[in-house]
Amino acid sequence: ADFAMYESKNNKIKGFRFYEPHQFSNLSDSMDFERAIKRNEFVLHYQPKFKLDSSLHGVEALIRWQLPNGKLLMPDKFIPQVEENGMIHEIGNWIIKTSLIQLRSWLDQGLPPVVMGINISPKQFQQNGWVDLIIECTKSLEIPPELIELEITEGVLMDHNPRTLEMLNRLKMSGIKLSLDDFGTQFSTFSYLRDYAFDILKIDRSFTKDIEKDEKSRIIIESILTLAHRLGLAVTAEGVETEAQLSFLKGMSCEYLQGFYFSKPEAAETITEMLTNYVSSSNGQIGGKL
Ligand code: C2E
Ligand code: MG
Ligand code: MG
Ligand code: MG
Repeated sequence: ADFAMYESKNNKIKGFRFYEPHQFSNLSDSMDFERAIKRNEFVLHYQPKFKLDSSLHGVEALIRWQLPNGKLLMPDKFIPQVEENGMIHEIGNWIIKTSLIQLRSWLDQGLPPVVMGINISPKQFQQNGWVDLIIECTKSLEIPPELIELEITEGVLMDHNPRTLEMLNRLKMSGIKLSLDDFGTQFSTFSYLRDYAFDILKIDRSFTKDIEKDEKSRIIIESILTLAHRLGLAVTAEGVETEAQLSFLKGMSCEYLQGFYFSKPEAAETITEMLTNYVSSSNGQIGGKL
């Protein structure tokens, strides 16, 4: 349980309120999220992704909510609610703008270009304003579109909505990369790989996790990699935590690797430092663990 600073809707009563994380939905409605946006309580952390040769490929933007009591709330605790109450559209747009402005800032500082991974919730596909926003931001911030990778889960594709296909095609045509996130956890329908123009397939952490202890997980990963490569897709493995997992994935020519073995999600300033050291390091490699 946590103590969270609680402020009443009319701003007259201030005090503390006691709650369990699962009770959060009871006291949070869209007003709380609106206020959180206004007060700048959301923050993006960035988790690096590496290439096989150990160079930095990019980062994935991951949202956190910095509560007034100092606690950092993880997305699992509030994304389902903002998807439910419709605030995902506003917060999703904030995520798009904030991550792309951050990328622009790194480019302006002369740091090596990295790909910015942005998670898009299936709910965001109910409106198409965010597609316009991304394309607009790409132009106005002069960001090469291939430096943007949208991470989309299969839930989006389930209903075979022609509007979804239209939105994905527009993004694709603008040069933005599309990644199928958490592959293997939901429906893993192969027709999605055939019918949608994904560039990258992201193997879910649940498979990476079992590489050492479970022969079947290894076989599944091998098969996914073979399938993806034959379809011309690159593969990212998420949740790499151990040397053994890494060497298995390297042996399978998995293009991109991400996980606590290399780095946890970090604040923007930490990534800035990482990129700065990258420029000044003689071997041109980050992490040096591969
Ligand atoms: P995801 O997109 O699959 O993100 C990967 C999650 O796995 C992140 O958790 C990350 O911190 C965690 N992770 C990465 N490497 C490792 C590892 O080696 N070991 C372990 N145990 N965990 C690892 P996080 O940040 O809590 O995000 C959870 C989920 O919340 C994300 O899953 C994504 O679905 C959603 N999410 C996060 N940020 C956003 C966002 O900006 N927009 C939307 N729509 N969803 C987001
Ligand atoms: Mg993701
Ligand atoms: Mg994922
Ligand atoms: Mg995942």
